[in-house]
Amino acid sequence: MSDATRENDVEDVVIIGSGPAGWTAAIYAARANLHPLCIVGVPKQNPAPVLPGGQLMLTTEVENYPGFPDGVTGPEMMMMFQKQAERFGTRVKGADVERCDFGERPMALHLSNGETVRTRSVIIATGATANWIGLDNELRLATNGGGVSACAVCDGALPVFRDKPLAVVGGGDTAMEEAAYLTKFASTVHIIHRRDSLRASKTMQDRVLSADNVQMHWNSTVVDVIGEDFITGLVLEDTVTGDRSELPVNGLFVAIGHAPATEFLKESGIAFDDSGYVSLPDGGSSATNLEGVFAAGDVADHVYRQAITAAGMGCRAAIDAERWLAGH
Ligand code: NAP
Repeated sequence: MSDATRENDVEDVVIIGSGPAGWTAAIYAARANLHPLCIVGVPKQNPAPVLPGGQLMLTTEVENYPGFPDGVTGPEMMMMFQKQAERFGTRVKGADVERCDFGERPMALHLSNGETVRTRSVIIATGATANWIGLDNELRLATNGGGVSACAVCDGALPVFRDKPLAVVGGGDTAMEEAAYLTKFASTVHIIHRRDSLRASKTMQDRVLSADNVQMHWNSTVVDVIGEDFITGLVLEDTVTGDRSELPVNGLFVAIGHAPATEFLKESGIAFDDSGYVSLPDGGSSATNLEGVFAAGDVADHVYRQAITAAGMGCRAAIDAERWLAGH
């Protein structure tokens, strides 16, 4: 069937999202002759940039993805994933899915460009976005590789952060995990939290607070980030007294939660877990609560959130979709 015919027809599988999960699902689905259509989104500001390719588009060096012994930049990596998916016949559409009718068969996906795509199966791989404080200088330096990041496990081991004072903002488990990781590299890890007690589990708290090179800043918020091309410090405000002070740091890791990109699924009948991520009730597979709808990557995983785990989930979703289609 030609592409032109298929455009007006019914797809076998549509992949929504273009991060490691989406492209890996596309590679596997394409090699299974399912001729997948990948709907990759359009760039937007939310408040940091959200780009087709996902969170890796805002990551400078990726040093923990196996197969790249010298590292690779996030955008380069996503370009390679896409090229590999296209090599096997994946078709790409630059639009957002705004609404899904999963109750109809074939299912209907309504796009931001006014089109409706009909499909037998769907793989949701729209990822999650890190929450940011929302300061202009924070977002500018996060976008330009200026030492502001939302993932210490991804970026914290870079040479630029070695033996430097670093800051983590947040008081949850993620903030504690990031801080614990950074204690291995930083001269000092400053944890900045807006209250006088942590939300994180007791075990995580104990582990972090007992480290020699951790310094807590209670009742504190970051009100500005200092630095032209690279961060040199923070302006903190005491939430009790209102006093402001400067803290010299050469890295800022924002760990104030993530939000899965699920807005377009709100009325779709898809089930979510307690944290708002797409629920995979069977655990062992990528199947959602709806027949023929699968999910992969950070949109369905608030625990691991790594490129490699997302890619693995994408592979599983393509295999699950292929088997489901064969049985229907
Ligand atoms: P979280 O539990 O929602 O914690 C977010 C933290 O950021 C809170 O301390 C919150 O402060 C703070 N915060 C939120 N907005 C802020 C703002 N605008 N400015 C400054 N601070 C702000 O998120 P999370 O730590 O990412 O964890 C998400 C879920 O994953 C949780 O259920 C967590 O237990 C789980 N998780 C588990 C593990 C593990 O078990 N190993 C690891 C990571 C995450 P307040 O405390 O004042 O609200």
